[in-house]
Amino acid sequence: MCIQYLLHPVQLTLITMAVYSSYTTFVTWLLTLGFTEHMIFAMMITLVHTASYVVFGGSYLFIERSGLLLEFKIKREQYQEPDKLLLKELFKDAMSLHFVQTPIFMALYYPMYKYVGMPSLLFELPTFFSLWSGFAFCGVVSDVGFYWTHRAIHHPALYWIHKKHHEFTGTISFAAEFADPLESLLEAILPSMTAAMLMKSPFLVTLIWMSLRLSQVYEHHSGYCFYPLEKRSLATKIVLVLRQIVFCQFPYNAMQHDHHHTASQGNFGEPWLDWTFGTMDYWLALGGIEGYCEKTGFVAESARPSFAGVKHCKGPKMQISTGAKARRLSRELSKKAGPTSGWKAE
Ligand SMILES: [Zn+2]
Ligand SMILES: [Zn+2]
Repeated sequence: MCIQYLLHPVQLTLITMAVYSSYTTFVTWLLTLGFTEHMIFAMMITLVHTASYVVFGGSYLFIERSGLLLEFKIKREQYQEPDKLLLKELFKDAMSLHFVQTPIFMALYYPMYKYVGMPSLLFELPTFFSLWSGFAFCGVVSDVGFYWTHRAIHHPALYWIHKKHHEFTGTISFAAEFADPLESLLEAILPSMTAAMLMKSPFLVTLIWMSLRLSQVYEHHSGYCFYPLEKRSLATKIVLVLRQIVFCQFPYNAMQHDHHHTASQGNFGEPWLDWTFGTMDYWLALGGIEGYCEKTGFVAESARPSFAGVKHCKGPKMQISTGAKARRLSRELSKKAGPTSGWKAE
């Protein structure tokens, strides 16, 4: 189930090797213009971050506005649609994040980056294995770090850090990073950057790793789930599989995180982590993917992932139910939790 930690690094390593020459030319050019490594570090991270936000967020906005791919859209209730005030707040927040917070934070981060002995921005291309292991380590550390931080900030004592992010009960891609700056630091930046620093990965690895993570986060909040593949035409299947390979996306992660926002019960991170640490019970009681599809009216067939069929999971309230029993239990839990309940540790 964790095969992604072995396979995705292969793809990311090949991308790194392919763009290494262009990257080196570009950084050399910036250095000849008089920019210091410190400035280039902050500028390039800001550039990759903002470009990813615009490209992925913009793509989902286009799909939404054009009415394309409606069959992949997760249905929304009226109360889940963000109002104008919230969208205005999102716009201001995004401006601040991309043009103030990120450049400043990265400028402050650079001395620490150098302090731990990170290589120069112009580095010699490492071996395939060295790059691969760097990406693999980043993958595990980021996912584990994200899971535990996210779970921790759902604790009542810390929920004030996370409350803002859950203002979007029906998420949109542009709102993926709508969060308190402290949350962004603890939950996203630190796990990802720390992993890269521990491995002393070259800057290009950090950039490629960051763009991958961002693309995943933007999809998880998009309100679109591009699976299952059953009953899709052959051409659609090919496109979806290629897309999954290129962006290292996983079936159903968008649906699982969507459920986290609508119900605020479990599903804190990667499914294997939620399963291992017993925070999937509400999701499984709902019937997993199948139950959530049914609840939201999603056009989906019963291609549930293996986790939904797991018979024994840790967790105090773990119940595995499907069909009518699951729906009854789901209704009971929904009544208890409320559709927009702010927090629930599990
Ligand atoms: Zn949350
Ligand atoms: Zn979220």
